[in-house]
Amino acid sequence: MALHWAVFQLPAHLVDYVIAHELAHIKIAGHGPDYWTLLRRAIPDCEARKEELDDLGRRLWLGQTAAAGDG
Ligand SMILES: [Zn+2]
Repeated sequence: MALHWAVFQLPAHLVDYVIAHELAHIKIAGHGPDYWTLLRRAIPDCEARKEELDDLGRRLWLGQTAAAGDG
């Protein structure tokens, strides 16, 4: 798993999200319903965090982060 250095400049709760996101992909590839069910077990508000991350990504240059791309 390769995390972009910029990920670690994010707020801690978003770093948690990015790491949990990547770990969930070890079990499930892609972003289907099964994937989100698994991720929600680790981070119940994962959808809110995803939106927050997407918003940040639009305002800041983060390069290709693990969660912003297809990762
Ligand atoms: Zn993903």
